[in-house]
Amino acid sequence: IFITFEGGEGAGKSTHIRFLAEALEEHGREVLCLREPGGTAVGEQLRSIVLDPENAALSDEAELLIYEAARAQIVSEVIAPALARGAVVLCDRFYDSTIAYQVFGRGLDRSFVESANEFACQGVHPDRTILLTVGDSAEKGLERATHQSAADRLELEGGAFHSEVNAGFMEIAASEPDRIRIVVSADRKSDTARKVFSELSDIFAW
Ligand code: C5P
Repeated sequence: IFITFEGGEGAGKSTHIRFLAEALEEHGREVLCLREPGGTAVGEQLRSIVLDPENAALSDEAELLIYEAARAQIVSEVIAPALARGAVVLCDRFYDSTIAYQVFGRGLDRSFVESANEFACQGVHPDRTILLTVGDSAEKGLERATHQSAADRLELEGGAFHSEVNAGFMEIAASEPDRIRIVVSADRKSDTARKVFSELSDIFAW
């Protein structure tokens, strides 16, 4: 079973992946927690290139291909084999981020990006996607994210870019309501976790 977590900066994806992983492990499941870009030796190197604020010269097209290269690697090296042996894979970001950031944010051609996504993920698709949002303010999440650590290249983009990205996520979610479930981050993490679990209750028996 393959579950992905999506959303803008600072929405709490990694926290809720951890909560879910702990719950599943308590139920005896093998769980793999991954992040994109990254999750493999090659992917982590690509991640540091694409997030390095020094690489301001990176073109939108090159940026897309780096994300897709990291994805192709994690799918073939880690995700596909894990799914084949019956593990639950939880991934922090996957191809919906590429539509939100590179199509809605950067303005790249949607059908090309969809083909690139397909090429990179080689038939591997999430069974469910949790879209974590911080209400309708991209700035709130961004503020939270940049307080947590030094800003990466994308976090240095303006608020308008992140609003486009968030609007993109909402549009993608609306077009695939069965797979993509929107969970609004509540003030209490335990409330949010409960909402995440309930959006997965048909997949996992708790
Ligand atoms: O999930 P995390 O915040 O670590 O994501 C890393 C960064 O990569 C974020 O700043 C996000 O904006 C960016 N990103 C992107 N395009 C993607 C995936 C992630 O710009 N397709």
